[in-house]
Amino acid sequence: MRQNLITLGEVSAEDQSRFWSRVTIGMADECWPFDWVGADGYGKLWIKTATFRANRVAWALANREEPAGIVCHSCDNPACCNPAHLWVGDDKSNMDDCAYKRRHRGQNQTHCANGHPYTPENTYHRPGTVAGRDCRTCIRERVRRYKRALAA
Ligand SMILES: [Zn+2]
Ligand SMILES: [Zn+2]
Repeated sequence: MRQNLITLGEVSAEDQSRFWSRVTIGMADECWPFDWVGADGYGKLWIKTATFRANRVAWALANREEPAGIVCHSCDNPACCNPAHLWVGDDKSNMDDCAYKRRHRGQNQTHCANGHPYTPENTYHRPGTVAGRDCRTCIRERVRRYKRALAA
């Protein structure tokens, strides 16, 4: 999928202030979410005749230049517009790199969403997948809840 390119010359001062007024600007190291996201989770902004990804606009405005490739998030939050969380790679290879980072980020986590450690005893590997992994404590709790619901 080819992203719409943004040409800075096309972004008027009004567009710029309209853009930043829709970003929740937080601390320097926080995520700055855009106020409207599409189905893919990315912030979207309509400028003149096309929609642009908000992260792309944020990078372009912050760096005063057209991003030469796809704009990725170091924070993995597609709606985020904090220029400090955005980085640009060269091309298609970078698209793969985004996806690669996302897949591997999950595997580097040491705890599940509920804070249980991914120790060997507590890790269930979903059959037939390489990356699929579940927390056994959470599975047990889900089963317990399910049985309780059945018994009620
Ligand atoms: Zn962020
Ligand atoms: Zn868990």
